[in-house]
Amino acid sequence: MGTGNLTIDLDAVARNWKALDRLSAPSVETAATVKADGYGLGGDKVARALLDVGVRSFFVANASEGTAIRKAIGDASRIFCYSGHMAGDTDLIGGFGIVPLLNSVEQLDRHFEALPNMSFGIQLDTGMNRLGMEPEDWSAVRNTALSRNPQILISHLACADDAKNAMNERQLKRFREMAYGEGARLSLAATGGILLGPEFHFDLTRPGIGLYGGLPFRDACPVVTLSLPVIQTRRVRAGETVGYGNSWTAKRDSLIATVAAGYADGVLRSLSNRATLMAGGSPCPLVGRVSMDLVTVDITHLDHAPETLDLICEYRGIDELAAAADTIGYEILTSLGARYTRSYRGAK
Ligand SMILES: *Cc1c(COP(=O)(O)O)cnc(C)c1O
Repeated sequence: MGTGNLTIDLDAVARNWKALDRLSAPSVETAATVKADGYGLGGDKVARALLDVGVRSFFVANASEGTAIRKAIGDASRIFCYSGHMAGDTDLIGGFGIVPLLNSVEQLDRHFEALPNMSFGIQLDTGMNRLGMEPEDWSAVRNTALSRNPQILISHLACADDAKNAMNERQLKRFREMAYGEGARLSLAATGGILLGPEFHFDLTRPGIGLYGGLPFRDACPVVTLSLPVIQTRRVRAGETVGYGNSWTAKRDSLIATVAAGYADGVLRSLSNRATLMAGGSPCPLVGRVSMDLVTVDITHLDHAPETLDLICEYRGIDELAAAADTIGYEILTSLGARYTRSYRGAK
């Protein structure tokens, strides 16, 4: 086949959710963050697989993502939206039963005016300075907000992937000061926060990346395999160059495989001369620049030319690829392109 094969293991997603769920007390609900189309893996399929293992609360970035998840999972679960109630989203929020996590006094007013009888939550800023009400905003509106029974109060940790970072304790303390004793359910932890321990778990955790097999959840099962077809191979003599800009020169007579994926497929251009593809268990360096549709790979050391080379597989996962590109697994996943042939394992 002329395109790469992207395999997504939904059973592994379910196993990862169960493993994260076991890390908190039974009284804590483990939800799932499925924003950005389930971190690029297919939000509808991921959400259905998670619904089947017992997830009852899903988190998305915006209302329109929420509608896609609602269509996939039906009416039995809650869908929370991190961006809150934005201008123009009232019909989607009302029509699809999405619970906005209100981020500002402006959003609070908008929600109470437009959808006075519909559920909402509140996002509080405990120091990340990205989304949520600042302590002063919150003091001004908390009595009004609480009298209308928010479903949940949440905040988000800026440094949870670094267990030793003092920011974690500072945010925990501030979250307690802002949110405790209010009766609403509380949520502070995403994947990193779950791993920080029980005092970060409150009533509900909302992991994303750990479900999809990425750090900081070291014990995650890998979810994604990406196998790319070799279009042709060629001999390159010592001293010849490969690809745009002549950025790689053969030091010896070499065998180069040209493989069907490039930056248009999310193989980041910063992986030029840096990534490693796998032929079974044998590492093969990507040489030369990543171009739009192609990469070139040194396979001189293999005893025969393979039909495919793997960019993500059991031997090299998303975090190793991310490290080679100076990025994080989240960006690798959400960049996976639309041209791959996608297949799902464990799908019903
Ligand atoms: C993306 C996100 C999450 C999930 O974070 P992970 O690190 O992927 O587990 C949770 N909460 C908020 C507010 C987010 O933006």
